[in-house]
Amino acid sequence: MELLTILGATGSIGQSTLSVVRRHPERFHVFALTANRQVARMLADCLEFSPRYAVMVDEAAARELRRQLAEQGGKTRVLSGAEALCEVAAEPEVTTVMAAIVGAAGLLSTLAAVKGGKRVLLANKEALVMSGELFIDMVHRSGAQLLPIDSEHNAIFQCLPAELQQNPGRGSLAEAGVSKILLTGSGGPFRYTPVDELVDVTPAQAVAHPNWSMGPKISVDSATMMNKGLEYIEARWLFNAAPDQLEVLVHPQSVIHSMVQYSDGSVLAQLGQPDMMTPIAHALAYPARIASGVAPLDFCKLGELSFMAPDMARYPCLRLAIEACASGQGATTALNAANEEAVAAFLAGKLDFMAIASVNEAVMQQLGSTRAASLDEIIALDGEARLCATALIRKH
Ligand code: NAD
Ligand code: MG
Repeated sequence: MELLTILGATGSIGQSTLSVVRRHPERFHVFALTANRQVARMLADCLEFSPRYAVMVDEAAARELRRQLAEQGGKTRVLSGAEALCEVAAEPEVTTVMAAIVGAAGLLSTLAAVKGGKRVLLANKEALVMSGELFIDMVHRSGAQLLPIDSEHNAIFQCLPAELQQNPGRGSLAEAGVSKILLTGSGGPFRYTPVDELVDVTPAQAVAHPNWSMGPKISVDSATMMNKGLEYIEARWLFNAAPDQLEVLVHPQSVIHSMVQYSDGSVLAQLGQPDMMTPIAHALAYPARIASGVAPLDFCKLGELSFMAPDMARYPCLRLAIEACASGQGATTALNAANEEAVAAFLAGKLDFMAIASVNEAVMQQLGSTRAASLDEIIALDGEARLCATALIRKH
């Protein structure tokens, strides 16, 4: 029986995880659920899954959840504050942690799970983007098992030989005969919109992804393709990939979730419906296979699969992320923090869509060469980049 902590349980990935868990009560037991402040969702899930702990980062939300749980006879103990996230991630009894908090807010609890030597299901790509080398070092020191949830990285993982699957961030792609990782992305909702019309994009248009249903931040990142940029950096760390081993391809239908090209000319791909329950079920049960609840692909109804190179004029955030990856940890940490602030400002109606990239670029230019090797340096740079981004957003 796996004992599971879900960080970010009320979000899109957290809820998809619970949908898979619900089908397999004999395999998984929920130990802890965490959220920022969504009481109603958390209450319902506590009553259904009876976890030992529920963490609400927000103190007032924790009080409200405690009150409502008591009223309904729920036995779950409610903790509050950000430190409690790390406690339920590192608890010795816990075997598996789903890291599905959005953004840098998930860094410390994800690292706590890694340090605790857990089977870590990584959805929170920003944590790895910020702390790449330190993160991978910690995986190897603690003996944690790292399984990618991001659909592209999960697809790549499935297409790699077992010796690379079991050696995250340290194996040699070249020695395994891999010539290239082909990272696919849909291109988001504006892939055919004339570039000069992109300034007028509204938050509602940006979060309406054509193929995937996701949280607001990653939906905006998909529209700017910053998401693919973050994934490029994520792939660099997860698979120990050099720039010439990574290629981004726009594939509008989101049927192929990424591919691995081998030196003999073979290309392995993972295909499926655009539903995160597939990678979640894969990682939850790895190396076994379990039902996820996702319908099988019907090839006769698929239609055409098309591919094209990304247009960097349309997607400046993708270019920035690839540059940051080549530049190093300071650049990727600064870029990630700037982007979180810029996306939040865009969603709040305080920044134009195309200005997200301008803010990101300016912050990267100012702070991208800052040293960010230790956790303290990473956190300090994250904070500094946010201040810098906020000042730029105010001027826009
Ligand atoms: P979401 O916005 O739907 O959910 C985020 C979760 O994090 C919620 O439970 C929320 O309560 C929690 N949270 C937010 N701020 C917090 C804070 N300050 N402290 C503690 N908890 C906080 O996001 P999502 O779409 O589920 O994405 C989660 C992560 O998974 C992101 O890193 C995203 O990039 C990644 N991811 C998501 C998808 C997807 O399909 N949604 C696909 C691939 C990767
Ligand atoms: Mg993805």
